[in-house]
Amino acid sequence: MENADELDCIVIGGGPAGLTAALYLARFERRFVVIDKGEPRAALIPESHNVPFFAQGVGGVEMLRRARDHAETYGARILSGEATTLAMKGDGFAVGFRHRDGEETLRARFVLLASGVVDIPPRLADADAAVLSGLVRYCPICDGYEAKGKRVGVIGRGACGLGEAKFIASTWSAEVTLLSLDEPLVPERAEQSTLAEHDVDFVPIPIRTLVRVGDGIEALGYDGAVHRFDIVYSAIGCDYRSGLAKALGAAVNEAGALKVAAHAETTVPGLYAAGDVTEGLNQIVVGMGQAARAATHIHNRL
Ligand SMILES: Cc1cc2nc3c(=O)[nH]c(=O)nc-3n(C[C@H](O)[C@H](O)[C@H](O)COP(=O)(O)OP(=O)(O)OC[C@H]3O[C@@H](n4cnc5c(N)ncnc54)[C@H](O)[C@@H]3O)c2cc1C
Repeated sequence: MENADELDCIVIGGGPAGLTAALYLARFERRFVVIDKGEPRAALIPESHNVPFFAQGVGGVEMLRRARDHAETYGARILSGEATTLAMKGDGFAVGFRHRDGEETLRARFVLLASGVVDIPPRLADADAAVLSGLVRYCPICDGYEAKGKRVGVIGRGACGLGEAKFIASTWSAEVTLLSLDEPLVPERAEQSTLAEHDVDFVPIPIRTLVRVGDGIEALGYDGAVHRFDIVYSAIGCDYRSGLAKALGAAVNEAGALKVAAHAETTVPGLYAAGDVTEGLNQIVVGMGQAARAATHIHNRL
C-alpha cells in the first residue's frame, strides 16, 4: 500500500456499519481503508424483514455482498485482516494491522470503529446452524414478528431474560416460557407479578443444555425434564468488541458498549464508532445511520 501516513480514515469492521461508512467516504473521495476480520454478526441473519427496500426479505450474506459491491463501485478498499492495536500518534492514530502476509502499522487522521458484538451462544451443538435456520434467535426486535403464534422459550439470566420474555409475550406470542441456564430461576415477588401479568410461564429448575430435534428445540432440565419449543430466544448477552477503543480510554457503559455523541464520536477526539459496538439499539439501520453521520463529520473536519 502507498504511504499510509496520508490516510484520512481507517474503518475497523466491514459489517453493515463499516460498509456504510466506506460507501460515504468513497463518495467523498477520501483516502481510507476498511480492515475487516470477516466475522460479521450480520452474516448470521437467515432473512431480515425489517430492512427497508427489501420487502421480500434479505439474507445477511446477500445484504453484506451488496453493501460491499456498492462501496467498491466507488473505489473503497476493503482489506482482510485484523486491527490488533490502536494508538494515538501525532494528530491522528496508528493502527496495527495483521493480515495473511504479516503485520504492518497504518496511520490515519481519524478512525471509525465498527467492530460489532459477539452474541454469547446458548449451550447447543452447532449453535450457528440453529441460528441460521431460525430456531435459535438473539433479537426479538429483529424477528419477533416471525415468532407470532409459535411456542417460544427465552433462555437467559436475571433481568435480561425476564425483560425479553415480557417483550415477546406482550407483543407477539401467547406461549412464552422463561428458562434459566445453569442457575435456578427464583423470581422475586415483583418479577412474579410481571410474569403473571404477561402470561409468561417459567421453569424454576435450571436448564442444562439445548438440543435441536426436528423442526424444534428442546431444553433439557437438570431434573431430566424436556421442554419443547418452536423457537428459543437466547438472552444470555453479548461481548462488545470495544477493546481497542477502551485501551485509549474511550468511555463505555456497564456492558462495554461505547458511548458516542451526536456525530458518533467517542469520548476520544477523532475516534468514531458506529453500529452494535455503540450503546443503543443493535439494529442494521441504526448502525448505518451512525456510520453516515460519522463519515460525513469526518469528511467535514478534513
Ligand atoms: C440472527 C440474527 C438476526 C438478526 N436480524 C436482524 C434484522 O432482521 N434486522 C436488523 O436490523 N438487525 C438484525 N440483527 C442485528 C444485526 O446483525 C446487527 O445489528 C448488525 O450486524 C450490526 O452491524 P455492525 O456493522 O455494527 O457489526 P457486524 O455486522 O458484527 O460487523 C462487524 C465486523 O467487524 C469485524 N471486526 C471486529 N473487530 C475487528 C478488528 N479488530 N479488526 C478487523 N475487523 C474487526 C468483524 O469481524 C465483523 O466483520 C440480527 C442479528 C443476528 C445475530
